[in-house]
Parts: sequence; structure tokens; C-alpha cells
Amino acid sequence: MAAPFSWLRPDPAGIYIAPADCWIDPARPVDTALITHGHADHARGGHGRTITTPATLAIMAVRYGTGAGVVPVEYGESLNLAGGVRVTFVPAGHVLGSAQILLEHAGEHVIVTGDYKRRPDPTCAPFVVTPCDLFITEATSGLPVFRHPPIEDEIARLLAVREANPGRCVLVGAYALGKAQRVIAELRRGGWTGPVWLHGAMERMCRLYE
Ligand SMILES: [Zn+2]
Repeated sequence: MAAPFSWLRPDPAGIYIAPADCWIDPARPVDTALITHGHADHARGGHGRTITTPATLAIMAVRYGTGAGVVPVEYGESLNLAGGVRVTFVPAGHVLGSAQILLEHAGEHVIVTGDYKRRPDPTCAPFVVTPCDLFITEATSGLPVFRHPPIEDEIARLLAVREANPGRCVLVGAYALGKAQRVIAELRRGGWTGPVWLHGAMERMCRLYE
């Protein structure tokens, strides 16, 4: 009998799923790619076939192009790949369309999280806990030094600064995919009804979110 999980291989270019001859978030163009989400360190253009959620495909189309073959898979839907590998996309709570990838093969269940968060975010589907035998996790903010305060408190601070400086601008730096839209949504939830001026580089992605 094969060693547990021997059908998966870590590789500098991504995670390789041998029986299905496909990759997760590959760093170079491959025949078949499963993509967790639209950020540039996970999604690249030029693959023969790109399998991911419809929202991530839409984001990729705006940012990188997706190549010829696209296979949209809704959250919770499963797809049978070659070699008896079954793949399901599970919400990751990171950005619009972001997914954990559940792989099933030879009776083994593997979750590859991609980036994820457990905090509520009004701009994407919340993280779903899924039983598995192997959990391959990102840990971008995994060090204990990262203690993110509640977003309500941060937005309240932002609005207080705005209030205290009526003749001035408050400039917020936020990543163009995900963070910017979350800040806007939270500002609205926090009661800000005035205009939010955007750098032009963010406009297309905000339109897509709308
Ligand atoms: Zn990300």
C-alpha cells in the first residue's frame, strides 16, 4: 500500500497532485491548475486549464487573463479529476471567491487552505470548517506578534480622526483586491455615508465586487 498522502507532492512551483497531473496555485504555467484565490502570489495566467470558483475566474480575467480553458466550480460543488481525485471548493473567508481546496483520493481527505481568515468579512463568504486527514495551511499572519484588533474599533478610530480633522483627508493604504473593498464595506457599516475617493488602480476591482 502506498504511503499516506504520497499522491501529493510539495514543489517550489506549487503543490502537485500526481494522479490527476494537476497543480494547486502553481507559480508557472501548467496544463491544469486549481486556484485558491485571485491574489498574485496564488493566481497566474497562462495555464492550459484553470479550475476555480466563478468569482476567482472573474478576478483573474480582469487581472491576468486566464488562458483558453476555464472550469468554474461553485462552492460545495465537486469535480472528478483524472486518477480518481475528487476536488471540492470550500469558502476560505479571505477575499471574494477565495476557497480552500478539498482533495479526496484513496480514502484520504486533504484540505489546502490557500489564504484564509476566520473573522467576519462582509465582502466574502465565511470560512467553512471541513473535516480532513491532512490540513495544509497558509500562515501569513501566524506569528503571535500579529494581534489584529476588532475591525469595528479600527473603523471607529478612523472615523474619529476624520471628525477631528474636518478640513483634511484621511489616507488609507489598502490592497486593491479584498482589503480595499472590506474597508469600504466596514466604513459604510460604521456609519460613514460620505464619498470614499479611490486610487484609479482600485476602481475596476471595486466594480467587479459590486
Ligand atoms: Zn491572498
